[in-house]
Amino acid sequence: KKKRDKIFGGAKLEVIKAKDATVTFKDIAGIDQVKEEIMEIVSFLRDPQRFLTLGARSPAGVLLVGAPGTGKTLLAKAVAGEAGVPFFSIAGTEFMEMFTGVGASRVRDMFQQARKNAPCILFIDEFDGVGKARSFGGGGNDESVHTINQLLTEMDGFEDNTGVVVMAATNRPSALDKALTRPGRFDRIVHLPLPNVEGRVGILKVHARDKKVDPNLDFHKISRATAGFTGAQLMNLMNQSAILAVRQQQPYISEKEVFEALEKIQRDKMQRGGRGVAGGDNELVPMPMRRSIAVYEAGRALMGYLTPQFDEIQRVSVCPGGAASGYTYFLPREEALESRIVTKGYMEARMVVSMAGRCAERLVLGEGNVSTAGSSDLATANRIAREMIFRCGFSKRLGPVSLMTNEETYLKSAGRAVANISTELAVIAYEEVEELVEAAEAKAYYGLATNYNALTALAKELMEQESMTGAEVRALLEREGVKRFDDTDT
Ligand code: ADP
Repeated sequence: KKKRDKIFGGAKLEVIKAKDATVTFKDIAGIDQVKEEIMEIVSFLRDPQRFLTLGARSPAGVLLVGAPGTGKTLLAKAVAGEAGVPFFSIAGTEFMEMFTGVGASRVRDMFQQARKNAPCILFIDEFDGVGKARSFGGGGNDESVHTINQLLTEMDGFEDNTGVVVMAATNRPSALDKALTRPGRFDRIVHLPLPNVEGRVGILKVHARDKKVDPNLDFHKISRATAGFTGAQLMNLMNQSAILAVRQQQPYISEKEVFEALEKIQRDKMQRGGRGVAGGDNELVPMPMRRSIAVYEAGRALMGYLTPQFDEIQRVSVCPGGAASGYTYFLPREEALESRIVTKGYMEARMVVSMAGRCAERLVLGEGNVSTAGSSDLATANRIAREMIFRCGFSKRLGPVSLMTNEETYLKSAGRAVANISTELAVIAYEEVEELVEAAEAKAYYGLATNYNALTALAKELMEQESMTGAEVRALLEREGVKRFDDTDT
């Protein structure tokens, strides 16, 4: 329904007319708080005169801040839909191209166009492309200085109630020129967070609405398996599940299709930067490598099973579709879901499971055959140990101290702890980190060694089956008489 109504000096301002604006709040889930905040804008657009008679101040600009796919565009469209007003949109990048050499007068034209159609929404996507800080080092050039200045002039003129609400989206608010967020400009900043477990349930349901879905589908379980997903990724998951259901001639989408689709999405992610070597779909993996991958994953899965503090096994795969890689997925336990607050026991369990693949290789294949497959798991174990020592005060020798001056620095350094501490202290801290990882490795080694037969049986089964569900893995390990660690035995 979108129409490219206006061709504008070579750049396209997309328009959705009021009567075609069908997206509403019922199409968005998981951000109830945000909807409330934005209701004020809707009331304004519905009847600007009445709004102002009541003494409210006319809203000018709303800055939508959130990661790609968190629903910024969707929200802006829904505001137009709820208010029944036209929606004009342009991408920040296009904006810049458009203004090269012609500059400010084009901004004027765009606002003029919007004003003629007021009340309406003017949506600027990828706003950091336009609103980049004007100071040196901010990357702004002469052209963007003029563009921003004109934008500010236009928005400052809003005081006399033009009925245009500018909504701009960015995922890098810190890159924006400070002048843009002064009162009367983009003074409303709305953050769109990643959805939490309940939010994801809501979003999954929105995207199940137009599909045939098993009436007993457990959305909560899917939500548990998708921590960290954006709305766009959840939508993609439901679409992929629908495609699988059609391809497999199922009457509707059931749990099986959803988890298959999820597995494929996770696998694609992993092959882009994870364990193992990405392989072509029809490549046959040479036997020794296949065996090594099976042993590695069997080690992880068995260790996950042994450790009651850890997550439930969801699925284990070895060389699926001929790819030279394997993986073991765990379904996060409720409390570990948003991975913000977890227990010490959980962190230790995660380290142990991370070290288990290498230990299994060493045990079954011999020291010389430990592969590079474990490097990213090793990195995970190390990162957790650093976090425990530097940030959480879980060090025996240092006691409950936080060595991080500020969490930001730690996160931004991509897992490398940068703390302003003396060399002496740093040496102790790193010894403590090493000790934690070594303890985790020892525990993994012990757990696998004492269940050696189960380990090799699982590896063998994985080579034959290619892929096993969590339930199948658990059944096999029970048959092998594996006893799980005691809950207190951390
Ligand atoms: P952004 O503009 O933040 O990059 P979009 O609004 O383009 O994200 O999101 C892309 C798609 O993802 C939307 O069209 C919608 O189908 C889905 N989506 C994102 N967030 C949500 C949400 N909160 N509820 C429902 N669907 C969502």
